[in-house]
Amino acid sequence: MFLVGIPISIVGLQGLWPCGLPHELTSHDIATRIRVDPKTIAAASTDFGRLTNEVPAAVFCPSSDRDIAELLQVAYESTQRITVAPRGHGHSVWGQASAAGGVVIDMRCLGGNATGDEEHSPLAAARISVSEGGAYVDAGGEQLWVEVLRETLRFGLAPRSWTDYLYLTVGGTLSNAGLSGQAFRHGPQISNVYELDVVTGQGELMTCSRDRNPDLFYAVLGGLGQFGIITRASIALEPAPERVRWVRLIYTDFAAFTEDQEFLISLDGRGAPGKKIMKREDKKYKGFDYVEGSVTLGHTPVSNWRSSFFSEDDSRRIASLAAQHGAIYCLEGSMYYGSSSAPTIEQDVERLLEDLSFVPGFVFTNDVNYVGFLNRVRKGELQLRSNGLWDVPHPWLNLFVPKTRILDFNVGVFRGILMRNHSVGPILVYPLNRNKWDERMSSVVPDEEVFFTVGLLRSSTPEDWRQLETQNEEILRFCETEGIEVKQYLPHQKGRADWVKHFGRKWGAFLERKKNYDPKAILSPGQGIFDSPV
Ligand code: FAD
Repeated sequence: MFLVGIPISIVGLQGLWPCGLPHELTSHDIATRIRVDPKTIAAASTDFGRLTNEVPAAVFCPSSDRDIAELLQVAYESTQRITVAPRGHGHSVWGQASAAGGVVIDMRCLGGNATGDEEHSPLAAARISVSEGGAYVDAGGEQLWVEVLRETLRFGLAPRSWTDYLYLTVGGTLSNAGLSGQAFRHGPQISNVYELDVVTGQGELMTCSRDRNPDLFYAVLGGLGQFGIITRASIALEPAPERVRWVRLIYTDFAAFTEDQEFLISLDGRGAPGKKIMKREDKKYKGFDYVEGSVTLGHTPVSNWRSSFFSEDDSRRIASLAAQHGAIYCLEGSMYYGSSSAPTIEQDVERLLEDLSFVPGFVFTNDVNYVGFLNRVRKGELQLRSNGLWDVPHPWLNLFVPKTRILDFNVGVFRGILMRNHSVGPILVYPLNRNKWDERMSSVVPDEEVFFTVGLLRSSTPEDWRQLETQNEEILRFCETEGIEVKQYLPHQKGRADWVKHFGRKWGAFLERKKNYDPKAILSPGQGIFDSPV
């Protein structure tokens, strides 16, 4: 009846108009942008997590931000309740970009792609433009970070703050925070935005920044899609380095591992590569530009999809150390360099490593170009895809753990709860500096100056994911019982009381902003925060 990917025509709608949509829409030109074919609906019903199936009434494929504004005006003025969820690349894990019975906006349409297309739309580049002088790039909210990187590199420039994986949209990560190993120095991606174009829940197209409509600007950044749809973001740029010296250091002692990580993120680095000098005792160091870390449990593989780094021989040595100690820890650091700093890179890294307490002989070094480094996860993804292991359930849990309790977390979770079953997937743990986050933004982090981000990025079979989810709940209960005040990153909460607790002192402002920008609670219902007008 419906052809895949073909918009339904208004003539063909009589009697077929999805009951979740207001009839008023049929009199608007944008009605031709509604899709209801089964393939499109099925794609918008699930996400990377493969844990939920929330079927929308329709998918909307906009050609401009004005189309989005018009759709939201109709939804806002309709007497019928209708929800609308922007979907970036659908890489949420708990249906956060879904709209059961409502409309999912396929944001990728703005750049000429539709969900399922990976990249390379000729229109995509047209929605990414580097400013004169190169201080920032304007990118459509639907753009993948890999597309932004490709375009800015043509000018020798790149954003400063990244996610580990680049096939996520600008709007999707800015609605959360956007984290990777550069965040200790530059802050999360939300701290690197100058200006946004946003369509509010009333269908108003607004430009906002720290000086212009600042309340909307701060609301939207980390706002879980609750206050507006980001259609453009101005993102800070820096000169792109040419190469990256990339090291992994193995530890058996968690306290030594975290102490070294904390030292590394205390090294400041404003300015161009080569000017990063800081003191520890009497010594001067050039710091890393990227600091992360991970845990390998004795029973899990050493290499995973986040990057193939170790040779087979190295993997065997590391696996044997992990089996001997039950768990080991891997500190990952990278130093950027270019032709001018190349002569000293060896020495700079050596100097830094001299005072770190990894297991002697367990230092592994790689040297790659900048794009290869930033896009390191892609190789693992393609491998998993070819083995049919990418589109499987992902009951992920991401937490921010206060620094003062990270040792307790190690004992109770890494060396406790997680030892009890043989799940697969990376376990990340690395520290962040709170002073790089802006308290006025919607995202929430622990109250301590340094906190750790912990990512349990586990995958499972369709039969087993509930077991891992039960274990995630056990971890949250453990933290609660032990008084470890964690915050969830990419939060998934069960009800209003949990959301109020999640936002803590920010809940009042969050609610107020909802009243101002989306009083009918139309936007991003899949987050499960508001299920009726406020
Ligand atoms: P979607 O899943 O499509 O949407 C997420 C939420 O944002 C939804 O509520 C949606 O309605 C809303 N939204 C989408 N677009 C917009 C918009 N334009 N305006 C307003 N709201 C919008 N996160 C990190 O921080 N660091 C990482 O290294 C990292 N690595 C990841 C690796 C993988 C393999 C995966 C699957 C996820 C990873 N994430 C990481 C998490 C990721 O940042 C979030 O899931 C993000 O939301 C995904 O972006 P998306 O474009 O797929 O968003």
